[in-house]
Amino acid sequence: MGEWKKTQCNLCAVACGIEVKVENNKIIDVRPDKTSPQSRGYCCRKGRSAKYFVDHEDRLLYPKKRVGDHYERISWEQAYKEIAEKANSIIKKHGPRSFALIGGGNPSVQTPSATALPLLKGIGSQYVFNAIGTEFMGYWWSCGRILGDQMHYLEPDDRNIEVIIYWGSNSYVSHQMPFARETCRQFSESADKMMIVIDPRLSETARMSDMHIMPALGSDSLFIRALISLILEKGWQNQKRDGKIKNL
Ligand code: SF4
Repeated sequence: MGEWKKTQCNLCAVACGIEVKVENNKIIDVRPDKTSPQSRGYCCRKGRSAKYFVDHEDRLLYPKKRVGDHYERISWEQAYKEIAEKANSIIKKHGPRSFALIGGGNPSVQTPSATALPLLKGIGSQYVFNAIGTEFMGYWWSCGRILGDQMHYLEPDDRNIEVIIYWGSNSYVSHQMPFARETCRQFSESADKMMIVIDPRLSETARMSDMHIMPALGSDSLFIRALISLILEKGWQNQKRDGKIKNL
């Protein structure tokens, strides 16, 4: 029994379309939504497991306060009041930069600039720590160096580019980019676009590619150095940029 309803997974920024089977106001099954223009029938294991997150017995549905060695339920009004009083007294004594936000999920990982940052900036702090800080540490660090702010990062313009390289990534299956399935199909089917996969495995994405390069295991860094060297040797880099590029 139960009724299938369309919705969206909110466990990461990709926001795949999913269908959930609901019975007595409980999710009893989840499947990818094939009609979703966003994900076109893709949904990762996290999305498929949504019912376990939604109904997990440890899920917090209301504020709790530690009293002695256990937690007791309190009202939202009491929680807001006590947090505000405590926060104000800490700011008064130690300044706003004594605050940092440590979080997971959407508020501080996938969309920090929409939620966590305004909250922190309102307080007068800037420190955010989250799982993605580790997951994408090198990437964020590089973007911080390029853009001057580690909370701003670059996304590839995969809709308008002509060549896409998946390096060690089976994106068709594991996503790793918004609209992964649509993008892979587009590149695979278009005569004007080229899809290159660099992966020792013959993955699902590699099977769709125009060119599949299978480097020997452990030779990735040598391979990228060879590519850079070839680009510089042939003068394929953007010559219009200032002299910095020539000093690589
Ligand atoms: S990739 Fe997975 S976690 Fe992210 S929105 Fe899609 S189903 Fe949810």
